[in-house]
Amino acid sequence: MQQSRRISTLNGDSTDDGWGLFNLARKRKAEGAQIIELTQGEHDIGTNARILEAMHRATSRGVTGYSPVPGVAKLRETIAKRLMDRTGVATTPDHVQITPGGQAGLFAAHCAACDPGDRALFIDPYYATYPGTLRAVGAVPVAVEAQSRDGFQPRGEAIAAKAEGAKSLLINTPNNPTGAVYSPETIAGIAGVVRDRDLWLISDEVYDTQVWQGTHLSPRTLPDMAERTLVVGSMSKSHAMTGSRLGWVVGPPDVIENLTFLANTTTYGVPGFVQEAGLFALSLGAAFEEQIAAPFRRRREIVLRLVAGQNVVRAIPAQGAMYTMLDIRATGLSGEEFGRKLLDEEAIAVMPGESFGHASAGHLRLALTVDDDLLEDAVTRLLRLATRLAREEK
Ligand code: PMP
Repeated sequence: MQQSRRISTLNGDSTDDGWGLFNLARKRKAEGAQIIELTQGEHDIGTNARILEAMHRATSRGVTGYSPVPGVAKLRETIAKRLMDRTGVATTPDHVQITPGGQAGLFAAHCAACDPGDRALFIDPYYATYPGTLRAVGAVPVAVEAQSRDGFQPRGEAIAAKAEGAKSLLINTPNNPTGAVYSPETIAGIAGVVRDRDLWLISDEVYDTQVWQGTHLSPRTLPDMAERTLVVGSMSKSHAMTGSRLGWVVGPPDVIENLTFLANTTTYGVPGFVQEAGLFALSLGAAFEEQIAAPFRRRREIVLRLVAGQNVVRAIPAQGAMYTMLDIRATGLSGEEFGRKLLDEEAIAVMPGESFGHASAGHLRLALTVDDDLLEDAVTRLLRLATRLAREEK
């Protein structure tokens, strides 16, 4: 049977979804090889036991039936208040739709912004699911490149150059894969184009608790932006709750009302016991969020210290999120070629920059998700390999 064009073209033209090297590393691991994996954005700790106990208490209390489709009232209220405290923008529970993770929020937000056939802008390098998410709503993904030499801060002019006929722009700060935290100038440039071209702005802020340098600035705080910005948030990264699938979209109440109708036809809500666990997790406050973020802050320092000791590999500033991106172009190899050698010769798996778009070709993304000693060992070996390859290249 013929499947719909929409579902059968989700992957675009690519035969590889960018996870080829990751899959190879997993295969070798399953065959018994010892591999250091710096690939996926998954904490090396599980969800905290106290949060799991809160989930268990909720199931024991009988919170196992259908839950309100917009989300549990108390959770919507807590998220609204948290966002208001963090940004100063007036936010009430009717600005919040709870979703099963940030990913479902990205899909829902684009459903609100785009009709089939609309051009939907996104920034390259990008989180791997972005183009597929845009295609999933029937939109046409249009990449806007941010440049390595700019620390991967996207420029307003580059966005404007692609904005003709576009409906939306998707941004992500702190950024996966680059670690960039968008500066006030970058955010102002983005807001300028979005207002001028009458675009929806979808702002993926799932890493907003992982900022090592600078300050996280949500574009929703800028004048006249709250009415056209849909913020996507999640408990995955801030509270190490990736498997719980708990996120949200914050936007104007008339959009949220329609996102609730959308949820009626898709997820029909998020499990109540998961939302109770999320509420408990949020009650632990900023100190807990800092505790979850601390290993990445520490490990980033390790990488930057090691990179500073040589001059072949360059680190992108890595201002936030749980990754560091390395520019390995001086070796003469692509990210994919280098990644393959690293796996074959050193049994270390990383993500090639090519997995995240054109702008990060010749780079590697390291997820800081193994313990400090292992990371130090892996990066030391990576740099040694890069130095050797650069010498051979000359
Ligand atoms: N946005 C970005 C930039 C991400 O890196 C991720 C997860 N890796 C997500 C959204 C989705 O996260 P989740 O669905 O777990 O909330």
